[in-house]
Amino acid sequence: MATSVTVQRLDSSGPEASQQLCCAICGTPEGEIVYRSTLADATIRDGRIDPYSAHYQINRCPRCGLVFSSPIFDTEQVRELYVASTETNIAVGEDANGRRTMERYYALLRPALTRRERVLDIGCDVGHMLDIARLDGFSGLHGVEPVGAAARVAETIPGATITTDFYEDHAYPPDYFDLITLIHVVDHLVEPSMLLERAWKQLKPGGAIFAVVHNSDSLLARALGERFPPYNLFHNYFFSSSTLARLFQKCAFEIVDVVPTYNSYSLGFLVDKTPIPPIRRVVARVVTLAHLNALVLTIPLGNIGIVARRPLASSDDARSRR
Ligand SMILES: [Zn+2]
Repeated sequence: MATSVTVQRLDSSGPEASQQLCCAICGTPEGEIVYRSTLADATIRDGRIDPYSAHYQINRCPRCGLVFSSPIFDTEQVRELYVASTETNIAVGEDANGRRTMERYYALLRPALTRRERVLDIGCDVGHMLDIARLDGFSGLHGVEPVGAAARVAETIPGATITTDFYEDHAYPPDYFDLITLIHVVDHLVEPSMLLERAWKQLKPGGAIFAVVHNSDSLLARALGERFPPYNLFHNYFFSSSTLARLFQKCAFEIVDVVPTYNSYSLGFLVDKTPIPPIRRVVARVVTLAHLNALVLTIPLGNIGIVARRPLASSDDARSRR
């Protein structure tokens, strides 16, 4: 049953979620409510809302099943959430593990590459993906990273050109890249199709695109329910394998593969992120006593990756050749 969306308010001084989102796949403006907004209980620190302390109202599209936040903050308020973020995406002490995770992503997408000349990593963070591509022969390394602290680290990669603009504000030529990567970006966007259509044009025909998002249909997501950590103010869309593939198909990409992805983390880091405090405290004590905090685990953490490509010719031509 489609339910109309209710606007949630914080207290009189807090930001208000007033921007209505539609389903990014089929444009349906209203969804069935999955979880009600928790904005009224958000933590405010130094006058700023903690984006991890709450989620918007979460809805499911009755037509295609895509799960999405709506209403969300307006464009300026959303930008403030990012500008206020001063840290890189990789937690202190987890850099080597972040690198391992990126190497595994690169191994997934590499078979789809036809040439290795120019790569664009949108949301490149400290630049691990660009550096891995460089070591595999890419010479044109381009990164988009609005968080200054992360961009400054990425700039130290030999040959890298990093912009702190938002991707939509930065012009790249058409038919330019052999590879575009989007690690934990697509589910943060207000209009993912707009970005994907732009990326399609900037890829060379036959160029590959790779994206990783949280999998709202994963065992972890099902087990944690509303406590699934991606339900926070940074995420507007929550994909399953099938809704992720449908979004890319809608934007004229040819799907190569959609697969669960693996992350490497230290056990100490994972324990620290356990969303249920009493369990976290007990496990943290055991792990510390056993000196296992630094143990590296490579596990599926409820993420999925999609490998797709801009078809070599228009889809009609591609069909007639098959
Ligand atoms: Zn839909």
